[in-house]
Amino acid sequence: MRLAVVGAAGRMGGALIRAIAQIDGVVLSGAVERLGAPDMGRDAGEVAGLPKNGVPITDDALAVFAAADGVLDFTAPAATRQFAELAAQARIVHVIGTTGMSDDDVEAIRPAARHARIVKSGNMSLGVNLLAALVRQAAAALDEDFDIEVLEMHHRHKVDAPSGTALLLGEAAAEGRGIDLATRSVRSRDGITGERPRGDIGFAALRGGSVIGDHSVVLAGPLETVTLSHHAQDRQIFARGAIKAALWARDRKPGLYSMDDVLGLKA
Ligand code: NAD
Repeated sequence: MRLAVVGAAGRMGGALIRAIAQIDGVVLSGAVERLGAPDMGRDAGEVAGLPKNGVPITDDALAVFAAADGVLDFTAPAATRQFAELAAQARIVHVIGTTGMSDDDVEAIRPAARHARIVKSGNMSLGVNLLAALVRQAAAALDEDFDIEVLEMHHRHKVDAPSGTALLLGEAAAEGRGIDLATRSVRSRDGITGERPRGDIGFAALRGGSVIGDHSVVLAGPLETVTLSHHAQDRQIFARGAIKAALWARDRKPGLYSMDDVLGLKA
């Protein structure tokens, strides 16, 4: 499968290019960066810390998509909206790992799913998606006597909060509880907040150092606490998951899919 990487000079872009080089059945067919990016024109393999692979980094997404079967996209919401249109025009697979997307952003990519096979997830790792399934189950089993709090820590360069993964886990807890996360979540606390509303799902975000991604879901009940957690040791887990998603989506009908679909985890 010919895969293009957009955001090729980014942290995830590099991890994707290295993973493609290691996995059978996929080949890097193109590498895209934003206009004016410092690595424009350089060899994508070299930028990712590999030997040269003959694929130059370009800003011509149209040409790159025309020569690809799928695109791996870990960039930024505005860029992902544009790439969704181009992937739909080219009728290829679009794997979206970009986080921090608003409801508007998500609505904007929906029409593209009529033509492209889109797999979108706030976290592409096997472990986190398994964790989400366990959280869904725990939240369904334990009633509102158990307060649910989602904790996350990421490196200092991360620009959005809570993380896409924290939201994915919060969504899994809300599904298990049968409540609407949008109206029942507490995103921050400061000052005299009053008592914790029963049944709400709380979020807390820590930022620092080079932490790739730590997440815990705490279910704190009367006299006992259950904690489910995941610790990412390397960005390769997201890159490998994204490639698995692309290979899975290749023979599907157009549509908007999640990692639950790819991994068969949906109850
Ligand atoms: P990064 O800043 O290192 O890389 C993003 C890259 O995208 C940059 O090189 C930037 O120049 C490029 N870019 C931005 N706009 C572009 C455009 N219009 N065209 C082409 N390239 C463009 O960030 P990162 O740490 O690699 O993370 C990228 C995104 O992936 C973030 O939203 C992050 O939260 C998310 N992420 C998701 C997962 C997951 O599993 N879903 C895992 C890790 C990171």
